[in-house]
Amino acid sequence: MSARTALPLVTAVTALAILTTGCTSTKTAGSGASGGSEVTLVAEGKLKTCTHLPYEPFQFRKGSEVVGFDVDIVDLVAKDLKVTQEIVDTPFEGIQTGEDLNAGKCDLAAAGMTITPVREQNLDFSGPYFDATQALIAKKGSPYTSLASLKGKKLGVQQGTTGETYAKKNGAGTETVQFEDVALLLAAVKTGQVDAAVNDNGVLFEYVRKNPDLAVTAEFDTGEKYGIGVRTGNTALRKEIDKVVKAARADGRYDALYKKWFPAAPKK
Ligand code: GLN
Repeated sequence: MSARTALPLVTAVTALAILTTGCTSTKTAGSGASGGSEVTLVAEGKLKTCTHLPYEPFQFRKGSEVVGFDVDIVDLVAKDLKVTQEIVDTPFEGIQTGEDLNAGKCDLAAAGMTITPVREQNLDFSGPYFDATQALIAKKGSPYTSLASLKGKKLGVQQGTTGETYAKKNGAGTETVQFEDVALLLAAVKTGQVDAAVNDNGVLFEYVRKNPDLAVTAEFDTGEKYGIGVRTGNTALRKEIDKVVKAARADGRYDALYKKWFPAAPKK
């Protein structure tokens, strides 16, 4: 290996380092308990959110807009920072590995994302803002009411998710079939390409509300909590999110959003 090939690499690495640390905007995060630390954003006047569409009712397209519970929660943060939220739709893998945050693709990740010890090594999470469990969806009246009942059958999972991990760990004897997003996964249940699928309860309950030919046939008590991800060490933004969510829980804005997006849900 000659120095000739090494040089452009060093240049590229340096350029990347400049690119990823280059921050164009500095804002002061109000008067939080954290003592007014500064929030630095990747693009001036914007709070960029990495997410993976669709994940209804957390984030999905409605006409030309992206709407949902997570979108509204992050809007509260954007409003507090006096900037506008901009959604960056990107595969879940880059979100959950922290790669997108490290590359400066977005300021935060809000994607119905469960806080897990592995992910905590790659990014920092806000405090929990939503509870979830894994659940099973199948055709209404089908006999698939547990993972054990799916032995020798096809079980759909969404790539890179906690549902995939759960199904692989607990679904001995079932054939897991991987899908890139939840829309493809649920369409596969509807068309019979798979016998059932595992995903987060909030998303599955929303889907069966609109698709009464399917049913949520089991819930598994995985005790998951969603967190908003920031780049490791971005304490100012993490504290800003926590401050806003705490205030929204206290003054009723959180409950109003919960009612707006989970009309069929039992009271928390
Ligand atoms: N909550 C699940 C996870 O974190 C699914 C998230 C998603 O698909 N957007 O893996």
